Amino acid sequence: TNFAEAAAGATPAMRQYFAAKEQYPDCLVFCRIGDFYELFYEDAILVSRVLQLTLTARDREKKQPMCGVPYHAAEVYLQKLLRLGYKVALLEQMEDPKLTKTVVRREVTRVLTPGTALDPTLGAEQSNYLASAGVLGSGAAQVWGLALLDLSTGEFRATEFAGVGGWAGLVDELGRVRPVELLYGSGLLGGVNLAGESETAAGLDGIRTKTAVEEWVFTADHAVPLVRNHFKVHSLDGMGLGGHEAAAMAAGALLHYMRATKQGGLEHVDGLRFYERSTCLELDAVSVRNLELVEPLFSGESVQTTLFYTMDACCTPMGKRLLRASLLRPASGLGEIEARLEAVGEAAGDLRRREELRRSMDGVLDLERLLGRVALDSAGPREVMALAKTLGCLPGVVAAVRLFGSARWRELGESIDPLEDLHEMIVRTIVEEPPVSLGDGGAIREGVDAELDELRELSRSGRQALAAIEERERERTGIGSLKVRFNNVFGYYLEVTKANAKAVPSDYERKQTLVNAERFTTPELKEYETKILTAQERSGEIEKKIFAELRRQLLDAAGRMRDTARKIAEIDLLGCFAHLAALRGWVRPQVEESGVLEFVQARHPVVEKRMEESGGGRFVPNSVHLDADAGPAVLLITGPNMGGKSTYLRMAALLVVMAQMGSFVPAERMRLGLVDRIYTRIGASDNVARGRSTFMVEMTETAAILNTATNRSLVLLDEMGRGTATYDGLSLAWATVEHLHDRIGARTLFATHYHELTLLADRLARLTNLRVTVKETAGGIVFLHTVEAGPASKSYGIEVARLAGLPTGVIARAREVLKVHERAETQQVREASPAQGAQMQMTMFTPLSQRIVDRLAEADVDGLTPREALNLLAELQREL
Ligand code: ADP
Repeated sequence: TNFAEAAAGATPAMRQYFAAKEQYPDCLVFCRIGDFYELFYEDAILVSRVLQLTLTARDREKKQPMCGVPYHAAEVYLQKLLRLGYKVALLEQMEDPKLTKTVVRREVTRVLTPGTALDPTLGAEQSNYLASAGVLGSGAAQVWGLALLDLSTGEFRATEFAGVGGWAGLVDELGRVRPVELLYGSGLLGGVNLAGESETAAGLDGIRTKTAVEEWVFTADHAVPLVRNHFKVHSLDGMGLGGHEAAAMAAGALLHYMRATKQGGLEHVDGLRFYERSTCLELDAVSVRNLELVEPLFSGESVQTTLFYTMDACCTPMGKRLLRASLLRPASGLGEIEARLEAVGEAAGDLRRREELRRSMDGVLDLERLLGRVALDSAGPREVMALAKTLGCLPGVVAAVRLFGSARWRELGESIDPLEDLHEMIVRTIVEEPPVSLGDGGAIREGVDAELDELRELSRSGRQALAAIEERERERTGIGSLKVRFNNVFGYYLEVTKANAKAVPSDYERKQTLVNAERFTTPELKEYETKILTAQERSGEIEKKIFAELRRQLLDAAGRMRDTARKIAEIDLLGCFAHLAALRGWVRPQVEESGVLEFVQARHPVVEKRMEESGGGRFVPNSVHLDADAGPAVLLITGPNMGGKSTYLRMAALLVVMAQMGSFVPAERMRLGLVDRIYTRIGASDNVARGRSTFMVEMTETAAILNTATNRSLVLLDEMGRGTATYDGLSLAWATVEHLHDRIGARTLFATHYHELTLLADRLARLTNLRVTVKETAGGIVFLHTVEAGPASKSYGIEVARLAGLPTGVIARAREVLKVHERAETQQVREASPAQGAQMQMTMFTPLSQRIVDRLAEADVDGLTPREALNLLAELQREL
């Protein structure tokens, strides 16, 4: 729409609308008109469709579509739009329409976006991150800054990604964090810089709302001072941001956006923290998805398939959020992991104290979110009282923590601030059962403010006086049904039924006549009315003032509350781990700095729990033995579909994640050399649904693994090579295994249906063949789900066919054909085997020409005599 043109012939109100639309072109403009928010033109069409509202028009020709929502019910509609990723600008009336003669002045008072508006239906364990990403420098010197703000809790942190892998790192982190909204400098994400790489930017797909702000916002000169101003500091060093200009810039741009969209009340955003990603076990976005750590692989599926669901026995929302965050970023430092394991072990072994601890957290509500509401001024007296109730639980929690003796418990017990002063301050000020809204009056306790008490006394005695007047007038007039009543229009009045109207004395002044009643007033009544109403008005003001002061004092202590909330989260999480360990018989993993990954009789926590719940039999435990430094580094798992290969792979990864989070694990025994990163390449079927080339995605992911895995990584490859022709796939899988085995030495679990790969065991000393077992019974095939040494039987498919009842003749013939193929293949592969250098490994299907090429490459042509050269030529010819 050309706004200037449209505005030319428009009414003044519509001109205001067009101006707002021009200023906030990417927003739906909600224009307040009387008791409605109205939308016009494209906005109206879109919103009426999305929210199922009736579309009307402003004019008879229906050229100006519009739709509206009632002002009082707008909240629900707004939340729905925000959840869908839309942004909304509220164009409000700035003056009372009753008091203006000309057109009401309207202004945009606030812009609601998914990242800035609080969603009351937000799950307690979810975070509502607004992310901001920008880049400084160019080429290899490029540094990406990322800032994340959760307005509901005030959590604000930033980090950086430098150099060549910077962009990929950023995308990965975004894929993991899953912000609801991403800010970036215009010309960046959509432009040259990212267009070429967008194929790999799967992490960005999940972000519904991407908001471009003008490029100058993402400059250090503009943005960094905003951070300093917000926190009122001269230097950012204290926040760990010294030397991290890109991170500070991203944070500043975010603050700029908060200001531009007129978000008030950022008091609870009282700190910004630089976080290093290398201090945790790195999980890329693909692995987070594949392993179903926090969300099911296919959206819409039950959350019961997630590790989060399986492990969530936390008592508080803070604990749940920490569990979720820890799943995404398990620790990688031995000290940290050991400290947690020690604490978990102690609590797991002590039922009485553990229960006491968990019970102590019973009434603990969402401290961070309540604080957030206080800061955003959306907390009424009830919320503040809820905050007090939570604070009131803290001394009990602290006492329960102090019953434990291990270092982490002691540390927490000693350093946690039970905030007793704040609790006391609130309960001293607010009544025990306050009204919902401050305006209702009566939220502040008696004894807090002398004037307030006096005023309340005044209106109380005023009301008593009215009761006395009622009594007296009944007697005087002899009208038993006479009543003193109140309404907003007339104030206090005397009401008499029609039948009694004749008995009314002459000093009554008539105010209103109804069908069957008459209303009167008297000078005396007026006098009391003024007294009572002014007293109420004044006490309302005082209550407001006291409440505002309380709010300010609470916000001054925001930092302390957030620190306590963090510690409660840690206490809750440790209690949760201890509870699970005791309840499900999990054991403490032995964690060390080595290349070992070994577990005995381990179970997949999610599958096991689901089997238990559905009564679907018992999970069959399995063991793994890997050692990146010496011993087997690659496990190649073959066997029929549905045999349990993927489950085995995922189990290994989940146990590593759990152990590094500091949790006990479902196994008889586990020994784990710290893992720096988990890589997964698991079936790409869901990418197909997203319309990407499966094979391309698979290869991109594989490339990332081969380029960045270290010998401290854990690599899971499931059914690699499926997306292409058999021989391409097999060759790539083959070469990939060799590379992992020879060059990287990462602990690798490789599940495959390429039976040919099992031959690699002959050549690769540190590759072990495993197979999932099946048993044939009279009734058919039973999957035993046991993983044992050795390659799977090649003719397995034929066995299945036999059991399925294929004619014996066909079965016999199939066996013959298989034998021929097997012999030929084995021959070829064996020939490809000599270990004459890296190039050889790629060549299993062209061994002959490769040998010739190799001989030529080896020959020292300068040093050959003519005679020797001729001999070489003859030799090569003989090869043909
Ligand atoms: P594959 O990858 O070999 O096709 P899956 O790992 O998908 O097989 O497992 C197939 C089915 O067997 C799944 O329903 C899974 O729950 C079940 N399963 C796998 N491993 C076990 C086990 N160790 N004990 C019990 N059931 C298992």
